[in-house]
Amino acid sequence: MGKVFKAYYVWPRFPSLSLSGRACSLSCKHCNRVYLRDMIDVSSPDKKIKVCRELKETGAVGVLWSGG
Ligand code: SF4
Repeated sequence: MGKVFKAYYVWPRFPSLSLSGRACSLSCKHCNRVYLRDMIDVSSPDKKIKVCRELKETGAVGVLWSGG
C-alpha cells in the first residue's frame, strides 16, 4: 500500500489553537507574535476542552496545536 498524504485547509475544519494564548517569550523577527493573533486561545485546560468541544460540534475534523 502506498503512502497517503493528507492536507487540510486550516479554516474552518482544522483550526489553529495557541497553547500560550497571545503570549510568546521569543518574539522572532519574522513573526513578533503576529501569528498568534489568528489562533484560538486555549492557554488553560478549561479553554482547551471547551474550545475543542465547540469545534467538534461545528464540524472540525482536527486542530493544529501551536503557540509561542
Ligand atoms: S509565535 Fe512562534 S514564530 Fe511567532 S514570535 Fe513566537 S515563537 Fe516566534
